This record gives sequence, structure tokens and C-alpha cells, in this order.
Amino acid sequence: MNCKAPRGTHDIFGINALGMSILEQKSKQIFIKHGFEEVRTPIFEDASLFTRSIGQTTDIVEKEMYVFEDRKGRKLALRPEGTASLVRAYIEHRFDVSYPSGKFFYTGEMFRYERPQAGRYRQFHQIGAEFYGSLSPSADAEIILLACDIFSSVGINQIKVHINSLGCQKCRPLFRASLIKYFSSVSDLCRDCTRRLQTNPLRLLDCKIDVHKFTDVPKMEKFLCQDCKEHFNLTQTLLKSVGCAYTVDPKLVRGLDYYTRTVFEIRSDILGAQDALGAGGRYDNLVKELGGQDTPVVGFALGSERVLIAAKKSGFFDNLNKVEKIFIAIADQELFSTAFAFCVKLTRNGLKGNNNISVFGPVDNKSLTSQLKFADKIGAAKTIVFAKDELEEGKVLVKDMKDKTQSEVLISALL
Ligand SMILES: [Zn+2]
Ligand SMILES: [Zn+2]
Repeated sequence: MNCKAPRGTHDIFGINALGMSILEQKSKQIFIKHGFEEVRTPIFEDASLFTRSIGQTTDIVEKEMYVFEDRKGRKLALRPEGTASLVRAYIEHRFDVSYPSGKFFYTGEMFRYERPQAGRYRQFHQIGAEFYGSLSPSADAEIILLACDIFSSVGINQIKVHINSLGCQKCRPLFRASLIKYFSSVSDLCRDCTRRLQTNPLRLLDCKIDVHKFTDVPKMEKFLCQDCKEHFNLTQTLLKSVGCAYTVDPKLVRGLDYYTRTVFEIRSDILGAQDALGAGGRYDNLVKELGGQDTPVVGFALGSERVLIAAKKSGFFDNLNKVEKIFIAIADQELFSTAFAFCVKLTRNGLKGNNNISVFGPVDNKSLTSQLKFADKIGAAKTIVFAKDELEEGKVLVKDMKDKTQSEVLISALL
């Protein structure tokens, strides 16, 4: 049998598992402060949900989705991102009626068939939030600031916010037409660009192969209608008002079809490349396109694995408040049940009120020497030894495993 995880997947354990939980906890705390509520959607959905929302001509739908048929021949897909599922849930359960604040967040596994590389997996984790029902630029600013706060909560402070506006249904077609005209004049476009030229010309803006050929590309800024211009300006004013530094980046288009107006990416130099830790934007037509009421939305998602790499490089893991490991040993076999009962009390009450502990032992039928060796192996900070003579006086031996000192302590003083 092949005992390896499938290509592009990974097991998360040890410090990485701890980091993942901390990132999720910190994010949840921040979401809750901003009034966002959690929604957990299924890992698979009807494949058509993603093709309709993300767009037929995007990389995700064209090459990266895990699509399969179930036993009844239904065409399903593992979710490649969280937005489409959340919009589906919003429409299905009439969240517009039951949750008028319109603020939701999610965390969970996503699936994309991509070439595996550092921090990119075929099964990966995202944390995201979406704000439904507000056309105000303050919703855009809140989402961007919320994302920044999550990064700084795990020690990532060197971040760069890139923002752009892609306009609306009124003004984007003019920009699109001007892009098609411009790109048609460029010779030797790469295969992807040639294919996308008519269907999705915005995507050519972020082509890594042809980028040097694109000088003097038309900018969306020039085509923004009055409403879009005001929206973009006010979003920026709000970001400035709380000291959030950002760069207006006309090349930022994002890979998904559903964006309107604001798009943003949050990058960090810590990762070396220009890759984003998180990204998002506004999608004012998506709910309606998927069959709901006309509802504007702005949201973002971050890739947990990439954020954790950056957090690690920022030294966040060095400062984690680690738990104290305590091993319970027995010098006499007959004290096993007494020691076991003590362990249970310790896990319930903590050691002198300290609940940040992990309790190990007792083990049967091992010499005290081998018990102490095991305590060292697991990195115990303290070993508490139950021995007959001391126990008669209500005491145990507490060994400090680091400096090898020991003292007799009353059991009542430990609990
Ligand atoms: Zn517009
Ligand atoms: Zn290209």
C-alpha cells in the first residue's frame, strides 16, 4: 500500500497545527468584534454553482476544479473558494431577512488542482468574510482593514495593500472594448492571452509572460463613471483616515469574473514573491446572477497556509505561549490508581490554577528510570513522582526536568 498523502495535499501537525488554530481563533475574534457571524457550507456543491459564479473562462473553472459525478450522476465539485457557496446559502436561507446586518465569515478547506509549490496546495485552507447589502465605500474599507488586522494579529506587520477599481456594468464595457482594441495591436501574445483576448481581456493585464510588451495600456481609472469614481475616492479617503497605507494598482484585476468596483490584494515582502496573502473586492451583481435579490457584496479571503509561512518568518511562532508539559510518574506500581486520579484532577483544575498545561502519564509496569527517560523525551518541564513514603505524609516529589532539582511538595498545594 502507498503510505503517502496525495500529491498537493499535506498533513498539518505540531507547531503548524497550533499556528493554524491560533490564526483561526484570532480571525474569529476580529470578525465577531466587527459583527460578522459564522457560516459553514458543504465542501462540495453543484459544479454549475462555480461555473456560473466564478466564470467559464477563469483558470479555476478551466483547469483547477475537482469535478466528479456521484452515484446518481449529479455533477458535483469540491469548492475551489468560499464566496459562491456563501452566496448560495444566503439566497437559499433568505439571510437578507433573517440576518439584516449582512455580515458573515467562514473558514475551511478549499480544493484546486494546481501545480504544488511553496505554500500552495491542492487542498488548502481559507478564512474569509463577506458584507452583504451595503453599497457604501465604508463596507469596502471595513473589509480591507479587517483583513489587515488579522495579519497583524499573527505578527505580520510588513504588509502592502494594493487596490484598484474595475468599474461597474455601466463603465466597464467601455474599458473592455478599449483593452481589446489595445491588445489586438500587440504582436506575439502568449497562448493564454490570445485565447482570452475576446472573452476576458482584463486578465491580460496580469499576464506574467507578456507584461513587458504592455506599455501604455489603457487604465480603468480614465473610464470610471461618476458613481464609480466617487466610490473609489471615498474608499481611499476612509483608508487614509485610519492611517492605512495603500497603493493604487491599475494592473490589479484578480482572476475571477464576478468583481465590480473595488478589488484589492494584501501582499507581504516577507514571502519574497509578489504573491498575495489575501485578496478580495466587491461583487455587486453576483447575488442577482445566482438568482437572489439585487444585493451588493464586498468580501475577502486569505490563504491560511501562506499567512502561516509569513507569520513564521515574522517570528510569531517563537513568541507563542507554549503549554507546560507535566509528567506523572510512580515509584511504586500500587500507587497507579492514586496517580491516575491525581492526573484527572490536574487536567480539570490545573496546576496551582495554571490551566496552560498538558498532563502525561502515569504508565504501568515501567521502572522509574525509564519513566523519567520518557518524561525527558516528550519535553516535560516537570515530573511529579508518587512514592509510598512521601505519600504517607500527603506529599509528592516534584522534579524540575531542566535544572534537575527536586523538592517534596504537599499534594494539596499543587491542586
Ligand atoms: Zn461605473
Ligand atoms: Zn500573456
